[in-house]
Amino acid sequence: MISLHGLTKVFPGGVRALDGIELTIADGEFFALLGPSGCGKTTLLRTIAGLETPTAGSVRIDGRDATALPPGDRDVAMVFQDYAIFPHMDVTANIAYPLRIKKVPRAQRTAKAAEVAARLSLTALLHRRPGELSGGQQQRVALARAIACHPAAFLFDEPLSNLDARLRLEARTFLKRLQRELAVTTVFVTHDQAEALALADRIAVMSQGRMIQIGTPADIFHRPGTTFVASFIGSTPMNLLPADVTPAALHVAGAAFPVPPGLAPGDHITYGVRPEYMHLSPTPRPDAFPGTVSVLENLGTHTLVTLETPETLIQLVVPEGDEPPTGTQAWAVPRRSLIYRGETLHASENHQSG
Ligand code: ATP
Repeated sequence: MISLHGLTKVFPGGVRALDGIELTIADGEFFALLGPSGCGKTTLLRTIAGLETPTAGSVRIDGRDATALPPGDRDVAMVFQDYAIFPHMDVTANIAYPLRIKKVPRAQRTAKAAEVAARLSLTALLHRRPGELSGGQQQRVALARAIACHPAAFLFDEPLSNLDARLRLEARTFLKRLQRELAVTTVFVTHDQAEALALADRIAVMSQGRMIQIGTPADIFHRPGTTFVASFIGSTPMNLLPADVTPAALHVAGAAFPVPPGLAPGDHITYGVRPEYMHLSPTPRPDAFPGTVSVLENLGTHTLVTLETPETLIQLVVPEGDEPPTGTQAWAVPRRSLIYRGETLHASENHQSG
């Protein structure tokens, strides 16, 4: 278990990279840190690893205060973006390296390296050097090295980012299976929301050194707590539309909906709807956004449709073949929506009308 209390890091020069982080990661949990560039993900991981000293707050690992412990005494293994494997050592020596540091006898560490290598399908490569390996193989060596010393936790800093798209998907599935098998607490830094959704038991979305939302992938996807999280999560961004409440209805981009509970005439809110939770109607209806189909983008099995309404652009995803030609008048019907007051989630709704 890793718990962080009031964790703050101010770099010389005044950058507040971490700002009072409160977080408990459960034993065996796969936890993703997600957020835009510069939000503090790497600094947080490095602070857990002991590579950065916090300005304030504490790090506890398995109930023990680790705040002042050097990295080597924390029982965590970090895998970096560039793998940081030694170019002059072969695969066996790279995997066995942490055991050598721990003064494990040679025969024992070679045996352990071979065992871990087999698990990661590296047996045939044990005598090669990193320069003779593909990116995916190098990544597996870095993983094997982390696994060989049986740490209490793995800390991964974008370990998949150097792989091409296909390998990345393969490595992702592999990593998830491995983590399940080993049941080792894992903290995973990524700026790729799809990766975080796919891998994690829970995700923390960070911005400017703070945790904006912590939840399961389903929570984060279906109930983003702020407009920032809403716009960050999802492979096509959520539509966030200005809306006004009158005594009769909630008016959004030419559509009118019943006034949701807790809203009053005169309220200005933001209406969120994911592109995946809308469909097109060829005929007018009051609970749909009227517009003209202006752009069609092929997503393979689906098509991303951009609808130009008098006030704004609305994007929705329809099954391939269901898209009307550009220039057609159409009505986008929302099935699920989110209401934000200011930046904050007020309510989420399922529309039965379908
Ligand atoms: P990325 O996704 O781009 O790697 P990140 O979320 O991991 O970003 P960090 O690397 O943790 O972000 O950086 C957080 C903030 O702290 C940034 O504003 C960065 O410029 C700053 N920062 C990081 N390391 C240092 C340092 N050694 N000295 C001063 N500022 C730093």
